[in-house]
Amino acid sequence: MSTVRLLLSYLLFKEVLALSGNFWHITDQHWDPTYNPNNNPELVCASSGKRPAANAGIFGDYACDSPWDLINSSVYAMKDILPDPDFIVWTGDDTPHVPNEDLGEVAVLNIIRNLTHIITQVFPDTKVYSALGNHDYHPKSQLPAAQNYIYDQIAEIWQHWLDPESQGTFKKGGYYTEKLLNRTGFRMLVLNTNLYYDQNKVTQDMDDPAGQFSWADKVLTEATNNKEKVYIIGHVPPGFFEKKRSKPWFTPKFNKLYLDLIQKHHSVILGQFFGHHHTDSFRMFYNSEGSPISAIFLSPGVTPWKTTLPGVKDGANNPGIRVFEYDTQTLVVKDVVTYYLNLTRANAARGRWEKEYRLTESFRVPDASPASMHQALERIASDSCYLQKYYEFNSVSYDLTECNNDCRVDHVCAAREADFEKYERCLQGAAAAIYGGLLPVLFVALSLVSANW
Ligand SMILES: [Zn+2]
Ligand SMILES: [Zn+2]
Repeated sequence: MSTVRLLLSYLLFKEVLALSGNFWHITDQHWDPTYNPNNNPELVCASSGKRPAANAGIFGDYACDSPWDLINSSVYAMKDILPDPDFIVWTGDDTPHVPNEDLGEVAVLNIIRNLTHIITQVFPDTKVYSALGNHDYHPKSQLPAAQNYIYDQIAEIWQHWLDPESQGTFKKGGYYTEKLLNRTGFRMLVLNTNLYYDQNKVTQDMDDPAGQFSWADKVLTEATNNKEKVYIIGHVPPGFFEKKRSKPWFTPKFNKLYLDLIQKHHSVILGQFFGHHHTDSFRMFYNSEGSPISAIFLSPGVTPWKTTLPGVKDGANNPGIRVFEYDTQTLVVKDVVTYYLNLTRANAARGRWEKEYRLTESFRVPDASPASMHQALERIASDSCYLQKYYEFNSVSYDLTECNNDCRVDHVCAAREADFEKYERCLQGAAAAIYGGLLPVLFVALSLVSANW
């Protein structure tokens, strides 16, 4: 090979490498400082609320939020697996699931400070985009639509990650925007969607809490004018919980406003990354012609805590963390790789964080673009092998029971429709399909019975 050709292929190789980037997404660590595996099972951790932590080990128990050893192990696992990501997305919920009386402003801030410290210590040179969770406030979920002591303090704690301008909007409403990695043409939008959470009593009657919708609309309009490409991150997502039928998080009004925002600006939004569910799922957005235009990636939590939400059966998960691979020129999400700790194994024999799955391999799609996520959803909806695979990943390989037809409807409708009315129609459509499918069976059965007579 001539020197020129060698040089050309080297340059091409470099170019291909430069096109591909990656970042970490971590969420819902929920550190419980009271965790002590040596106590009697009901008193291992405050977050179990007296539910027995029967298998409490060094890395935690499914009835409890994360012990420090789990948090520590997850951050060092990130460093081992991908030590130099382009950036880190961190979507909140740092404190344990305990009554408000057991925390208070000082405790909440101390927990946020400790988690910020370990991430900064392990990734000192990495930019972190950090969003507030509903548990990052006292009292929980009551995040205000105006400046307050906690936003001020967190803006200080995250000072090294925030531009001066970001500090301003953060103190006002817990949100901010910055150029993604300081590159012209690329933008990160960090939202405080806790303002839209139906548990938040202080914002419920407002039209646009902290002016966040009009601000986001303005930022996205400018992004369109400047031909920018945008990622959106936040904690509480719009749409429905896939593990409990007809359970949304946003109030109806705010859900609609969020969906309108995405419909209006989807052409510049290349990805949305949220937490709060603790499960691994995704949400689709379609235009009026039914074409996929955007997707929300819901990343699994670090905490294994079994939810106490009534109606959810055995809602725990294994701790998960994940890497997104993306095209650095277009911001198209190319792949999603989830890593996890099998908590039972880890407690028994110092198990290690391992790869759980790679999206493109497991769902046989070319990338993680909206079109590909739609294709994955269609496979999940129509093929029981894909459904089962998706269902096991949903709890980070914790719940390996069979996903039956009701389960399929819950998961598929939640992923397909974030709009309240369309979601209900999806449920009804599924019920009608089952009824329609049963009719011929019923007819044959009846005719057999009558033939026997
Ligand atoms: Zn959470
Ligand atoms: Zn949450």
